[in-house]
Amino acid sequence: MAEPVDPTAPEVVAAAADLLATLRNEPATAGLAAPQIGLSWRLIAFDAGRHPKARSRAGELVVANPRLAGAAHWNEGREGCASVAGLSADVPRATRITVHGHLPGTGEAVTIEADAFEARCIQHQLDHLDGLLFLDRVPGVLSLHTSLHSCDA
Ligand SMILES: [Zn+2]
Repeated sequence: MAEPVDPTAPEVVAAAADLLATLRNEPATAGLAAPQIGLSWRLIAFDAGRHPKARSRAGELVVANPRLAGAAHWNEGREGCASVAGLSADVPRATRITVHGHLPGTGEAVTIEADAFEARCIQHQLDHLDGLLFLDRVPGVLSLHTSLHSCDA
């Protein structure tokens, strides 16, 4: 389990910048969580606007201590992960979510209402904070597909 952070702490602000820079360098990836860059902190970055299937688009965002406050309308959709190269699977996720968190730097509280691909991407990143991969949410190896690119969520 990744640890909660003080969103105004300089080292957290620096980690948020690192996470965003890493995400920008991975064009096939729509989101990253701090544990993927070796930090066991509750910090996620995402930019669902890059994905053609996205509906809601909060834009490029880093959120500290993100917390799922609402989830509805579940369906399955294909996911991959930058940390699991070459594999993807259909994963059940809520298609509408509400997430509370804080912006690194100011510490300002934010509420994100996301749907469709963006909601899937955020839930995928939240799982990383709890040490879960999408592989943990599919019934077995027969559910896996090979994917040509490593696209997080
Ligand atoms: Zn991932």
